[in-house]
Amino acid sequence: MIEVAIVSGKGGSGKTTLASSLAFLLNEEKIKIVVADADVDTPSLHFLLQLKEVISNLNVNFSRKASLEESLCSKCMKCVYACQFSAITITGNFPKIDKYLCEGCGACKIVCPSSAIKIEETTTGKLTVGVSKYGFPFVTAQLELGEHNSGALVDTVRSKAREIAAKNGADLILIDGAPGIGCPVTSTLVGVSYAIIVTEPTPASEDGAKRVLEVAKHFGIKSGFVVNKANISNYREHIVSALEEQGSEYLGDIPLDFSVVRALSEGRPVVEYDSVASRAMRKVFFRIKEVALKL
Ligand code: SF4
Ligand code: SF4
Repeated sequence: MIEVAIVSGKGGSGKTTLASSLAFLLNEEKIKIVVADADVDTPSLHFLLQLKEVISNLNVNFSRKASLEESLCSKCMKCVYACQFSAITITGNFPKIDKYLCEGCGACKIVCPSSAIKIEETTTGKLTVGVSKYGFPFVTAQLELGEHNSGALVDTVRSKAREIAAKNGADLILIDGAPGIGCPVTSTLVGVSYAIIVTEPTPASEDGAKRVLEVAKHFGIKSGFVVNKANISNYREHIVSALEEQGSEYLGDIPLDFSVVRALSEGRPVVEYDSVASRAMRKVFFRIKEVALKL
């Protein structure tokens, strides 16, 4: 089974816009897909692919947080000094744990002479499995506020997508990754067959694309890139040759087109209707089929 990830080194490059259109086109060609949204900090692919049916919506609990039983506390304040994350402050003569700052390391529990501190499992995020209005399975997740296990949550999304793909005999898992190069991006890229990098003709976007390309190369993943809003500056030529030089394949341009804004505001993939951007995305899709999917 092929797993393809769409990533960008920087937010706002048009990754999710392209992901929704590729999912639409793959489905249109009767290729059996499972779509996974791995941008667990700010998932938004569901706005464009829309769930017509939610199959499950479950809490994922693998985070750990400290909790304090005040009646057992002798107010020695050893826990305050043991916490390396400044998660415990003294309020009204009592230690107080800030759940957003707590990393669950357990140091406070170890130093507490009164067994007043417990380390408990807490909710990392919500995992949702459903069916898109276009008919294919869709897996998404949303990280809890202030949570930090985004890489692990992405891993859960991908495991669920693989489980569904195996059960349904799917040909391909399409993953919309997180922007940047942090933990959720690494979790998105590990083990995929191909990475599609979405970039824009600006120095900041080039920098992000090069950084995420380095991550892909580190894991031995072949990649190609798409220049979104390609007509907004003369920087396009530079970014194409810079990324090709670094070993990524050029997959095509998508011009700036206000039909994209209209499609996003209506909550549908750009390629659902004809437009300049839609035609460009279809061209990119055919190139992706050739080089990444070998179809
Ligand atoms: S578990 Fe670690 S991070 Fe959390 S309050 Fe205790 S010492 Fe601080
Ligand atoms: S180390 Fe234990 S007893 Fe001491 S202040 Fe903290 S919670 Fe209370």
